[in-house]
Amino acid sequence: MRVPVDFNWPLGEAWFGDELPSIECELCNGTGKKWSTDGATSKGECELCDGEGEIYLNLPLPEGDGWQMWETFSGTGSAISPVFSTPEDLARWLADPGDTKLSSKTPSFVKWWTSKTATYEQWLAVITGPGSACSHVVTKDGILSGVQHEGDELIAKKSDRVLPVEIRA
Ligand SMILES: [Zn+2]
Repeated sequence: MRVPVDFNWPLGEAWFGDELPSIECELCNGTGKKWSTDGATSKGECELCDGEGEIYLNLPLPEGDGWQMWETFSGTGSAISPVFSTPEDLARWLADPGDTKLSSKTPSFVKWWTSKTATYEQWLAVITGPGSACSHVVTKDGILSGVQHEGDELIAKKSDRVLPVEIRA
């Protein structure tokens, strides 16, 4: 995620912006129904709340120049790294986070991700490429983290482009 460099949301805590209480839809007064202008005739679902009768609010993360890795297992998810000012610094930390303790609420596959499963090059390829990876990939050689698998694919694609032409019809 791109967040402000001084963003200081605690590691492992779910982003509060996903968990705001819903409010009643005032367009349909909470009924979820659409009404015709000539009276109280129901004509399908309220367009604002899609028939729910209530509106769910969420606040996105603030945006900035910093680089931070989040697990997005549920909604916005939670931060799994500090904020860094460059993608290289973030990749370096993720490849070897030292003895940083993630929250007990952090999903176990995320803890596995940050236990040196992927290299600096794999992390950097994912961060500067798609910016995200799946949790894991099952291959004939065993289970790889999404970062290992997608990082390698991205690195291979990059080097394909600079390979010299060896044969040409
Ligand atoms: Zn409504």
